[in-house]
Amino acid sequence: MGGSMRAWMFYEPERMVLETVPIPGAGANDLLVKVEAVGICGSDVSYYFGHSPLGTPDGRGPLVLGHEISGVVAEAGENAKRQFSVGDRVTLNPVQQCNACPECLDGRFNLCRFVETLGVSVDGGFAEYVRVRYTHALKIEPSVAFESAALTEPLACATYAMRKLNVRLGDYAVVIGSGSIGLMMLQIAKARGAGRLAFIGTRDAPLELGLEMGADAVANVKHANSAHYAPDVVEWIRETGGGKLADRVVVPTSDIQALHWALYGSGPGATIAYFGLPGPDDRIQVPALDTIQADKTITFAWLSPLVWPEATAALASGKVDVSRLVSHRYSFENVEKGIRELAAGDPKKIKGLVAMG
Ligand SMILES: [Zn+2]
Ligand SMILES: [Zn+2]
Repeated sequence: MGGSMRAWMFYEPERMVLETVPIPGAGANDLLVKVEAVGICGSDVSYYFGHSPLGTPDGRGPLVLGHEISGVVAEAGENAKRQFSVGDRVTLNPVQQCNACPECLDGRFNLCRFVETLGVSVDGGFAEYVRVRYTHALKIEPSVAFESAALTEPLACATYAMRKLNVRLGDYAVVIGSGSIGLMMLQIAKARGAGRLAFIGTRDAPLELGLEMGADAVANVKHANSAHYAPDVVEWIRETGGGKLADRVVVPTSDIQALHWALYGSGPGATIAYFGLPGPDDRIQVPALDTIQADKTITFAWLSPLVWPEATAALASGKVDVSRLVSHRYSFENVEKGIRELAAGDPKKIKGLVAMG
């Protein structure tokens, strides 16, 4: 295609510049996608402030961030034409695995040793165009807006955790962590047939949205002036369950206390899925005997292997609504401003998104 485009180039912590650069070329197996919407992930904020290194060989920029991307195919390479045409509306799976390392050969694409991730190790979506392997694009239904489609990536991560959690019809399920991923997990638990659904977090705005999205009860564990305040989380889980502890607990938060509430708030035969990322030195202390004798399953979920068709179907069917999670919208010119604002911690924040417009 050739020509030039505007892209937000991240150089080093707190230095990101809107530049004019060449439009990337598309090889035989690539698509060139005109970006329509990009979610701003907590990890983008973390990269921007230098709290975590990039996935590039030296952990540094220059790199275009942004990995939650939807757009329109602008160019399709020779092999990519098997499945895509110019004009197709797509969402992108940013985690481009090598397909050859031992983990890939075992189908564990989330653990690939030579992964190339859009916005993390290769240029991502905070640009007018992005190059992606055609194996990592999925077409989206006409009914799904670009803004929602951009959130397929976090939804796929939520979907993978919920697949491991395996909510059964009638289960008492608890989601601990009231961010955008928690709200997605809540809707998935409902769609999978949870009988009773409890939602626990630290901010009233997402908790109250949770009530509209299927939660039977919500608890604010932080603010004593909240109408939903619950000082004793485990007791609250028991009361909400009508005297019974949870069958299924998923933890989309990094809070180390929350990781333990899952252990103490779950009952006999329970499954727990850990999702939020604690610090490198954090430890979960499992009450070993109780957990063994309760025959519990503790599982962990990382990224989103093999669940993208399920996530796109959840959006297409309306089983999961992500459009209401977008609390902060920014124009392309305001990507950096958006990242800084989201870091400032507005209590009404749920999810930030860049709409190219
Ligand atoms: Zn993300
Ligand atoms: Zn691999």
